[in-house]
Amino acid sequence: MKKEPFVTLEQLKEIEKTYPTPYHLYDEKGIRENARRVKEAFSWNKGFREYFAVKATPNPFLIDILREYGCGCDCSSMTELMLADAIGCSGEEIMFSSNATPAEEYQFARKLNATINLDDFTHIEFLEKCAGIPETISCRYNPGGVFKMSNGIMDNPGDAKYGFTHEQIIEGFRILKEKGVKTFGLHAFLASNTVTNEYYPMLAKVLFELAVELKEKTGVSVKFINLSGGVGIPYRPEQEGNDILAIGAGVRRVYEEVLTPAGMDDVAIYTEMGRFMMGPYGCLVTKAVHQKHIYKEYIGCDACAANLMRPAVYGAYHHITVMGKENDACDHKYDVTGSLCENSDKFAIDRMLPKVDVGDFLVIHDTGAHGYSMGYNYNGKLRSAELLLKEDGSVQMIRRAETAHDYFVTFDFCDVLKDIKWQD
Ligand SMILES: *Cc1c(COP(=O)(O)O)cnc(C)c1O
Repeated sequence: MKKEPFVTLEQLKEIEKTYPTPYHLYDEKGIRENARRVKEAFSWNKGFREYFAVKATPNPFLIDILREYGCGCDCSSMTELMLADAIGCSGEEIMFSSNATPAEEYQFARKLNATINLDDFTHIEFLEKCAGIPETISCRYNPGGVFKMSNGIMDNPGDAKYGFTHEQIIEGFRILKEKGVKTFGLHAFLASNTVTNEYYPMLAKVLFELAVELKEKTGVSVKFINLSGGVGIPYRPEQEGNDILAIGAGVRRVYEEVLTPAGMDDVAIYTEMGRFMMGPYGCLVTKAVHQKHIYKEYIGCDACAANLMRPAVYGAYHHITVMGKENDACDHKYDVTGSLCENSDKFAIDRMLPKVDVGDFLVIHDTGAHGYSMGYNYNGKLRSAELLLKEDGSVQMIRRAETAHDYFVTFDFCDVLKDIKWQD
């Protein structure tokens, strides 16, 4: 499918009068339409809740939009818990799905009454010692081996650091029950960025069957099953996106096959999607500032991997639209680069694009999740602003760009850089 930006060149020129490139831009309309569809897809399940994976896009303005559709927060660190708390989430609106968890984080999660999703068998004892065992608890399952789907997509749970083994989860439930847990949940995350409607239903089958087995072996009746993240988006134009309504119906079918006959038709379905909720509704807007002609043709941008590191770390594809040239032939081959002193700092390699001129706006698609949030400060590069394109066409700054002051502020305990002149 042709990938079209949610913003026009005219709008970008207007935005430029107030906000310089680069910046991440988010599409309020797209976020809302998608959140509405997710809600509808699982409306058959009474207790359904999506816990937005905060790490994907930790911006309170955006999470507040999702909360209008009943979403909670999935957190996995102290600051993510603090963010959820600060926007008014508490208790069962917060899922704490962490791993290698520090004691203070368990303590804070308990203070907020968040639902704790234990990553490991040994954490039962750790949690008991540092924060006490709550009445509601969830355990993360790792079935090991290889997880395969019919279109060839697969992932390797056996190589993943997460979760309890099969034996451990049965034993863990027995121990937790003895320790007074009243409400149990199950969680698993077995494949990332899946672009197939099959993933959630297949994962649901694994977890539903485990829930039935746990009931038989431990007498515990699971109250919620958390399908976690992993629902992907079509980064490439030739990919077909997931149909969340079909995914919801697929999970329902398995629910009725496995849970209903076992007398477990009161189980709530939870999800922790990040990418699917926000990915397509954000883009990185940058300008071509240089052209370089050596053994290859290069376009140098004012954004770099500090703003979006997925291409550099995973070789991930992000589609690029040269604004105003949407209908021109893609007859030029470029590497599109940032300015880091790192050869991996390339948004695209050997990408066929229309002829790019210095000053052209480039829209780098699908940066709404795991985009800004993975940013970093290598080479002393500063992170960009985040802007929200509202439904009425106006633009709101929802995070300012970092300044040099932000970069140097961690030396504020001493006077070694007291004479530095930062431009705020
Ligand atoms: C990263 C993560 C998610 C979100 O994953 P997406 O692929 O963005 O949907 C959900 N749950 C947990 C525990 C995660 O670590």
